[in-house]
Amino acid sequence: MCKVNSVCGKFDYEFGGPFGTIATMILLPIVTMLLTYWASVGYVSFEKIFDTTSSCQSGIQSVLGTVANSEVMCPSCNDLWDLATCAIVICFWFLFQVLLERFLPCDLVQGAPLPDGSGNRLSYRINGHLAFWVTLLVANIAWPSWVEISEGGETKSVLVFGRAPITWLYDNYSTLAFVTILWTFVLSTYLYFRSFGKGLLLAVGGNSGNPFYDYFMGRELNPRWGSFDWKEFCELRPGLIGWLLLNTSMLSKQYERLGYVSGSMIFINVFQGLYVWDALYQERAILTTMDITTDGFGFMLCFGDLAWVPFTYSIQARYLVDHDPHLHWTVLLAIVGVNMIGYLIFRGANGQKDAFRRNPDAPEVSHLSFLETKRGTKLLTSGWWGMARKINYTGDWIMGLSWCMVCGFNSIVPYYYAIYFAILLVHRSIRDDHMCQEKYGDDWKKYKSIVQYRFIPGLF
Ligand code: NDP
Repeated sequence: MCKVNSVCGKFDYEFGGPFGTIATMILLPIVTMLLTYWASVGYVSFEKIFDTTSSCQSGIQSVLGTVANSEVMCPSCNDLWDLATCAIVICFWFLFQVLLERFLPCDLVQGAPLPDGSGNRLSYRINGHLAFWVTLLVANIAWPSWVEISEGGETKSVLVFGRAPITWLYDNYSTLAFVTILWTFVLSTYLYFRSFGKGLLLAVGGNSGNPFYDYFMGRELNPRWGSFDWKEFCELRPGLIGWLLLNTSMLSKQYERLGYVSGSMIFINVFQGLYVWDALYQERAILTTMDITTDGFGFMLCFGDLAWVPFTYSIQARYLVDHDPHLHWTVLLAIVGVNMIGYLIFRGANGQKDAFRRNPDAPEVSHLSFLETKRGTKLLTSGWWGMARKINYTGDWIMGLSWCMVCGFNSIVPYYYAIYFAILLVHRSIRDDHMCQEKYGDDWKKYKSIVQYRFIPGLF
């Protein structure tokens, strides 16, 4: 099984091939650490990164070299206790989410037919939405601790429940990011080696034969331990819910510092909280995305889901703790408007496609026009999907822009997200276009002639 280019007969590499993927694997962790640092200082600065005269001079760092020889790239490397504590916290966090996935009640949902032509489908435990609420419950009112109380002259230890010491996440933000990055390398390495086991279903795009490229793309399509699906679990739980907790921690820290919470901080928590909640509420929709149906589980998704999402998507909240612009309420209101427009497009388009894919005769979609294809599936040609072929990406990007805007207009750092996300979505749309061309052939060309615009109706 391989992905061969029909024109030149060679493997059809993506992401710049082996060289591009190696460069990405080196650069992404560096950029993650830089962003967490820049969000703390509030501007782009390279000064401290090369400051090798700082207190960090442990053995680990000498191995990592000059760039890593700084507190920015390798935070707490001079304090192995801190490092170990953060590593233990990350392990417990991961394990806690695994336990929720395993033991909370769930719906058993069938995924898309496997691409091996067998017609078989995998079954998934869908309970991410419940895991989301249980996590919030534990973090906010059910965090266990022991307190000493005196009763009748006697002191005893009692188990009580309350709010988790959530600002600890703010205090250890960079170190947590650093150990999570290490964890993603460990997990990707495990996934890579286990993919050589017998009888496993491999991802077409992750089996070039080049070990670096395959390590990045992911060789195995659905790595599982029994019914535990590593990829689906990592896509939605530890990273996404972790992002929400990090944001909550930033909010608590701002309150601790200032004695109040700013409008921007409230809105970033509400906007991004809504985004995370939405993803988990619609968990079954992920089963038909290219991440699940097509891409292998390698470094790309592993790092993206577990390190990049929580630690770079939370930098707006991190930035606001120390650099809140105290925007006028009218500006905040306008930004809420931008967010709502984005959410309406995003949810409207994704919801319409999901409803149509589940049942084209459902009342909410039965009035829409569509194109019959030789492949057997139908393509919507009116409603949201008649306006532009990737209108859902446009809505997503507009929402992301509103997250940056609540941070004011003094620094480029919070705007990293709008810039990065535009690049990701354009690249992703090209990948999807390519895959749809392969899936649908001439029907895809016909669809593109009916729905001519990609992102913005009438423009491009
Ligand atoms: P889409 O939801 O756009 O799904 C693409 C698939 O939809 C195609 O392969 C095709 O599959 C089907 N499709 C395309 N056009 C039509 C049509 N007209 N009618 C019916 N079906 C159609 O892509 P993604 O999975 O990439 O994205 C899902 C959401 O996740 C998006 O809103 C995106 O913005 C978001 N996202 C967010 C990220 C983040 O980091 N925040 C990262 C990636 C995505 P088929 O025909 O086989 O069903």
